[in-house]
Amino acid sequence: VNAPGEFELIERFFTARGAAREDVLLGVGDDAALLAMPPGAELVLALDTIVAGRHFPPDANGRAVGHRVLAVNLSDFAAMGAEPAWALLGLTLPASDEIWLDAFASGFDELARRFGVALVGGDTTRGPLCATVTLAGWVPAGTALRRGGARPGDDLWISGTPGDAGAGLAILQGRLAATGAVREELLRRFLLPEPRVQLGLALRGIATACIDVSDGLAADLAKLCRASDAGALLDAARLPRSAALTTAAGDTAALQLALSAGDDYELVFSAPPAARRRIEKLDSAVAVHCIGEITEVPGVRVEGAALERDAAHGFDHFDD
Ligand code: ADP
Ligand code: MG
Repeated sequence: VNAPGEFELIERFFTARGAAREDVLLGVGDDAALLAMPPGAELVLALDTIVAGRHFPPDANGRAVGHRVLAVNLSDFAAMGAEPAWALLGLTLPASDEIWLDAFASGFDELARRFGVALVGGDTTRGPLCATVTLAGWVPAGTALRRGGARPGDDLWISGTPGDAGAGLAILQGRLAATGAVREELLRRFLLPEPRVQLGLALRGIATACIDVSDGLAADLAKLCRASDAGALLDAARLPRSAALTTAAGDTAALQLALSAGDDYELVFSAPPAARRRIEKLDSAVAVHCIGEITEVPGVRVEGAALERDAAHGFDHFDD
């Protein structure tokens, strides 16, 4: 087998990837990257690791893995309202399979270019398949969105249609049946999540708190509530659900997936009711919906739906 060595591998697959940026004084190839920070900015850093068999199926194609490892970090930036700029890639590979690597590098590259991120360095080792990205960027001083700023009376919003990625994973695992365009759409939502960076940036100065949904709406909303020392009341009837999700799963399971399934990488945020008009008019590449409000009572409660016990795990639930 003609497997490339480490040096050749870095040269072929990880040099000149992502966006070309003038603020990269030194990128891949030296002992460390050298970057010019804009004046008056605060440095923002995030790191997320994805492991085969835990965060993605071991047989997932390279393109989806390369996309995912950057997308999960971009989603953290979106939730902070931060501008992504530079990435470091840590890659552990069982063997240097060129076809897989080429797909991985192009999945990473495509997303990185789209979001203006330059790949400026990394590390490559042999071992069980695992990928890590450290993403760096900035916010103008004092403007970052945090989890802790929600106040009772604030509206609660979500982007996109939660539950789709969970349904896509269920299809991959053979727990849910779907065919044709519905199947394709839900698989795409799981395999190629779209980070909501533009929305996060647009929410600076508007949202009082923000978090991205990686573990599930109810679970991640609970984190926002704890950080804000507040609670939330969700109206199940206002929770957006995609036609694909409802078609594949039916109404009841669709609602449960929308509340509990992970991997959507949508943004949940709070904002004062006075900001409603501005939020509805944001130009952010994804629709947003008001789904409830922040309350003084702690915990996450859901009204307007009869839920099975499993779906109510982690939050109280009110039937009506
Ligand atoms: P060192 O021994 O100095 O750490 P390496 O051989 O690990 O050097 O890396 C050489 C160069 O290639 C460095 O600039 C490093 O940042 C970069 N690099 C290594 N692996 C990757 C990768 N997976 N993606 C991007 N850059 C990488
Ligand atoms: Mg190294």
